Amino acid sequence: MNSNETLLEKPTQAMMPVGRMHMPDRKFIEEQFPEPVMPACAINKVLKGQKAIVTGGSSGIGKGVATALGHAGADVLVNYTSRAEEAEKVAEELRRCGSRAITCKADVSKEDQVQAMFKRAIEEFGTVDILINNAGLQKDAPVDQMTLAQWQQVLDVNLTGQFLCAREAIREFKRRGVRKDVSCAAGKIICISSVHEVIPWAGHVNYAASKGGVMLMMKSIAQEVAPHRIRVNSVAPGAIRTPINMQAWDTPEAYKDLLKLIPYKRIGEPIEIGRAAVWLASDDSDYIHGATIFVDGGMTLYPGFETGG
Ligand code: NAD
Repeated sequence: MNSNETLLEKPTQAMMPVGRMHMPDRKFIEEQFPEPVMPACAINKVLKGQKAIVTGGSSGIGKGVATALGHAGADVLVNYTSRAEEAEKVAEELRRCGSRAITCKADVSKEDQVQAMFKRAIEEFGTVDILINNAGLQKDAPVDQMTLAQWQQVLDVNLTGQFLCAREAIREFKRRGVRKDVSCAAGKIICISSVHEVIPWAGHVNYAASKGGVMLMMKSIAQEVAPHRIRVNSVAPGAIRTPINMQAWDTPEAYKDLLKLIPYKRIGEPIEIGRAAVWLASDDSDYIHGATIFVDGGMTLYPGFETGG
């Protein structure tokens, strides 16, 4: 164990996925596959002294990422749009671990609110080193029944929101430059994309279009800002146990169907996206740039072909 390494991660309340913590249809899983075992991982303070913004940080993946960043030593602004008390709970967990944490209400699709959020982070923390572009939503409908409002809202939040936040982060990273005492990069942006940046998704054309957009936005920004030593990458989750997709894991039948899409035969947990984000935000991944890391239990491996097609 090195001096930065502390304890083994034990799930705390704030790390737990929202919703019922059951493993549906255990009999089916035990009969078919080895029982899933969640890894216990050492927590290293690899982000000590760094300042982060996590959008949509009060629930699901955002909550898992904010918690992981805090445990890794970062100070965190937890952004939310509703349910301030949930954001405050995440911030309290981070303070308990010794990080500074504040909450900030802002709609990421609104330019003035995004700018106010960055201003607040810079006033409180002095600067921003890490942006986690996580806020997102779904408004599903068959394409011929999808309203313009449904299309527009998903694009506004999932794509334009990520652009607005990335733009403010880059302005701050360029203004400030490299802080050699905390990182060899001037700043890190991590876009939470989705396996649907590459997998088409019938009935969700607005969502898939937004995530496909995130992929090329991320890569184009990465190409443009690399000389400034600003690193930009994505994490593309598969099926993670959060409120956004509760209907896919909340009943034994749904869970059984879901496993058909996951070669590793278990759903992912928000903290697993958190661990990937910590690594991408740390100097351990300093030469990773413009990449999408799929954290999906193999969902992008065309599981329909696992028996030979
Ligand atoms: P979630 O619903 O728990 O979290 C989404 C968060 O975004 C919520 O906290 C919500 O309040 C916030 N948000 C929504 N609109 C916002 C806005 N205008 N401004 C600021 N915040 C806003 O769901 P989640 O699964 O944790 O989703 C987080 C991200 O992960 C999303 O971008 C989603 O597309 C992506 N993702 C999730 C999964 C999964 O399986 N759960 C898979 C792939 C990608």
